[in-house]
Amino acid sequence: MNPALNHSAIPLLKSVDLLVVGAGSAGCCAALAAKGAGVKSVLLVERYGFLGGISTGVLDTFYGFFTPGDQPRKVVGGIPDQVVDLLDAAQSAFLRPNTYGAGTGITYNPEHLKAVWDRLCLAAGVEVLNYSFLVDAIADSSGRITQVVLCTRNGFVRIEAKRFIDSSGDADFCHWAGLPLEVAGELEPAQTMTTTFRLAGVDLDRFQQAGGKKMLMERMKNDDTLPRKAGSAHAMPIPNCVSTVAVRVGDLSGLDSWSLTSAEREGRRQALVYENFFRKNVPGYEEARLIGLSVGIGVRESRRVFGDYRLTREDCLSAARFEDRVFLCGAPIEDHRLGQDGQEETAWAYIPDSGVYDVPYRTLVPAGRDECWVAGRCFSATHDAHASCRSMGQTMSMGQAAGIAAALSLELDCSARAVPISLFQDHLRRLGVPLEPPQEVANTAAKAWKENRKTNLL
Ligand SMILES: Cc1cc2nc3c(=O)[nH]c(=O)nc-3n(C[C@H](O)[C@H](O)[C@H](O)COP(=O)(O)OP(=O)(O)OC[C@H]3O[C@@H](n4cnc5c(N)ncnc54)[C@H](O)[C@@H]3O)c2cc1C
Repeated sequence: MNPALNHSAIPLLKSVDLLVVGAGSAGCCAALAAKGAGVKSVLLVERYGFLGGISTGVLDTFYGFFTPGDQPRKVVGGIPDQVVDLLDAAQSAFLRPNTYGAGTGITYNPEHLKAVWDRLCLAAGVEVLNYSFLVDAIADSSGRITQVVLCTRNGFVRIEAKRFIDSSGDADFCHWAGLPLEVAGELEPAQTMTTTFRLAGVDLDRFQQAGGKKMLMERMKNDDTLPRKAGSAHAMPIPNCVSTVAVRVGDLSGLDSWSLTSAEREGRRQALVYENFFRKNVPGYEEARLIGLSVGIGVRESRRVFGDYRLTREDCLSAARFEDRVFLCGAPIEDHRLGQDGQEETAWAYIPDSGVYDVPYRTLVPAGRDECWVAGRCFSATHDAHASCRSMGQTMSMGQAAGIAAALSLELDCSARAVPISLFQDHLRRLGVPLEPPQEVANTAAKAWKENRKTNLL
């Protein structure tokens, strides 16, 4: 509970069945899934003026839909597919095949994704409240959380709800509710933060003719001004525009305003260093100009809640199976850290034989709680497991699962931990969520995806 607030002086704005805190990729899917599964009133609250969180404010590529390697298998389904279909209908997405790293990505125009989240939420009847920052969670005399406090454009308000999903990325609901959690960086170094940026006016043909990615990596290696000599610079679904994930800011906290202020400033400084490097040293970029920075610096991890189960490194790398699985993940552990010399080292660890592991429902239920779930990058996992299971294919899947769990618990009037797993899994399967490791190799060529999805991707 936030001791700075006098609850009796704060007006009650409304009562809902389900409150979803934070409208990133996890929160949007949670709200959509809950509404689709019959919850009468779902309120999605978000501190910023748009939906999508990191998916729209920082990035432009969904990873985690496919296993990596040259035999990709599709492990994600349901609402995430609907999101991609709508991006495709807006001619706003393409598949970016690669045979290493996180596997085939789906690159999209993030401004169009904002409109897609709006459209899906409106059509489903999800009520959205932007400019609303959760600053407290209030329990009744039995210890059950029944209300939250939001700081809105209109002042402080209370919201009452029967169930809650914490998809704030930073686990703000769980923090204020006093639930057990780990702050990234306290036990192990936290992953670095990144300000992404976009360049326009790039001549991609000239870049390719001059040696493309290989040439770029060589030139980065030989430049002493760069803060990090690796990263991704990839074409966007907008002519002559390139999106870049290269900046790295370490040793600062994503949970402290002073620290975040320094991180934002440093992220912007580094982006300009890269712009200068590209223009001076990389053929094809001579006329390039910076046209956008991420809305805020991208925080990879901040708080991770302790759930009824914590996903571990061993679970990921042994392709573990769980009776209460609610989605799958085939992504490697991708850990962005600062090395001794201050340079970023990305440590990769792959699931043997391009395997897939199950993610158990219990990682979404804060330990011992009946009335709330956690979804997205603050779910219950160790540092290493989180570094595998944090791509947006998985955060959307977590939101989807948490939303359906909340719907079942309301419908059956049962606690989060009493949701019948077989009923739950049937619901997920009907939505198109794979719960068995897929054998079939997904042909990620555009035509095949189109035929698979029966829509017009690309
Ligand atoms: C730099 C970077 C690069 C990455 N690269 C990739 C990639 O290429 N592909 C990929 O698939 N994944 C990538 N990831 C991982 C992935 O993007 C994230 O794990 C995922 O987007 C997290 O989704 P989320 O919904 O859990 O959190 P977020 O997207 O952070 O959403 C949380 C939402 O909650 C809101 N919020 C927070 N606190 C409050 C509060 N108190 N009250 C109200 N609202 C609140 C926030 O404004 C935000 O909208 C990357 C992550 C980072 C940071």
